[in-house]
Amino acid sequence: MRHKNDDRNTNARRELIRRAKQRKERSGRRGLRKTPPRPRRPEQEIREYRAILRDVRRAMEREIRDRIFPEVDGILEEAGTREDSERREDGWSDTIRDLFVSTRLALSETENKAKEKMSVIGDRVGSRATSEQVKQIRAVLGVEPDFYNEEKVREQLNDWKERNGAFITRFADEEIEAAQDAVSRAIRSGRSSKEVQKELRKRFGISDRRAERIARTECGQLNAQITRERQRELGVEKYRWRTSADERVRDAHEAINGQIFSWNEGPALTNGQHPGEPINCRCVAITMVDDLLEELESE
Ligand SMILES: [Zn+2]
Repeated sequence: MRHKNDDRNTNARRELIRRAKQRKERSGRRGLRKTPPRPRRPEQEIREYRAILRDVRRAMEREIRDRIFPEVDGILEEAGTREDSERREDGWSDTIRDLFVSTRLALSETENKAKEKMSVIGDRVGSRATSEQVKQIRAVLGVEPDFYNEEKVREQLNDWKERNGAFITRFADEEIEAAQDAVSRAIRSGRSSKEVQKELRKRFGISDRRAERIARTECGQLNAQITRERQRELGVEKYRWRTSADERVRDAHEAINGQIFSWNEGPALTNGQHPGEPINCRCVAITMVDDLLEELESE
């Protein structure tokens, strides 16, 4: 027995090979590709994920502008001059805390909507990863695979939804906390009302870049995870690493471009991470079909 791993002998693989053989008998392999096309990354979902974080942040900006900004002058007055601010800190820091608590509460509805949208994005990334896998197989074997291992995939999707939903809460918590710290610091160091507002606006710029990185990494990792699951269900244990082939590709990923790796053990250069898993990674895993083709040609 050449195949030592029983994972290869799945229903999905047996069924796929059976249908591919039927097709071959009927029509030969004319017109089929030798290697699968490059799968598409979940760019649409990444944009939607980013939009969710932007919505949350905008709501936060709005609430801070409406609830905090009008109070800054009063708080500055309460805090007094720089000399006696320490003595009187109790009063104004309670005021700030109360203001930010109500600001955070006002974000609940936005937060819940964001979580619902997040769940939809998870499902879309999952079905895109699956349909891209189907396309890769169809291009080479001429037939589409069926997948039966839905339970495992659903589990992965649920984990992702839960984690990313919880992230929305944490995102709002952290941003509000950071804004509160920024205001407190500015007041403590005797800043003017304008300077306090400027300090707050600066915070939102930082979140923008962070949102982009998080969206890309989270969608990329889920995409990689489902792709891996689908390929393994077809008994495919290896993939070819493909970069996006532009100037933004990092050196380590350029170095392994085109090389073959096992799903059991990713490249040492990426610490074992698979395409799409490293932060901001735009690389993809091309299905290694050689082994499927070999089985198709046998007998
Ligand atoms: Zn990459």
